Amino acid sequence: MPLSRSKRWESPHEYKGAQPLVKVFMSQSAYCRIVMHSTSELDDEVGGALIGMWCSDRDSLEEFIVIQHMLPARHTRQGSVYLTFTQDTLVDFHDEIERNHKGRRIVGWYHTHPRMGIFLSHYDTWLHKNFFPEPWQVALVVEPHTSVAGFFIRRDDGVLDPTRYFGFYELNGNLGRSMVEWHNLRDAEKESEGG
Ligand SMILES: [Zn+2]
Repeated sequence: MPLSRSKRWESPHEYKGAQPLVKVFMSQSAYCRIVMHSTSELDDEVGGALIGMWCSDRDSLEEFIVIQHMLPARHTRQGSVYLTFTQDTLVDFHDEIERNHKGRRIVGWYHTHPRMGIFLSHYDTWLHKNFFPEPWQVALVVEPHTSVAGFFIRRDDGVLDPTRYFGFYELNGNLGRSMVEWHNLRDAEKESEGG
């Protein structure tokens, strides 16, 4: 698990209750692409797939995912308060992985909530269960106007809380300059230094 070369971003919900099944690592390039896509449309919802690896730590056996790429969703239906993936959206993701990201998996999906909070709607939860059923697949929600975001991750008993989001680990974020500007997430190091 690449903990030593990552910067941890914590959500305010991090320590309440059960812990998530997987830790989420994300590359800076994937982060930047998601932000660019999220802020490219400020009225209607947009979204896409999170592409990367599902891994298990050699020593601790803890599971984690690494988000390395993103794919904007096509063949969607969307409005200001909803986004629908279709069967063609998924076919497109798989074609794209076959062409350009061989060996990688769909580790989850992201979508925006313009002028709304960070939560999963009933429909989002339905979509997550049906299109992203693996226990380690995650959902990222981004609010592009205020630049806040969070990950929804299943617990080890499979339950997904639609109101409680988690932060993530920014790959190489502790080495060079951090890219993360989602200001609802706290820098875990600063938090512990400051008491
Ligand atoms: Zn939504």
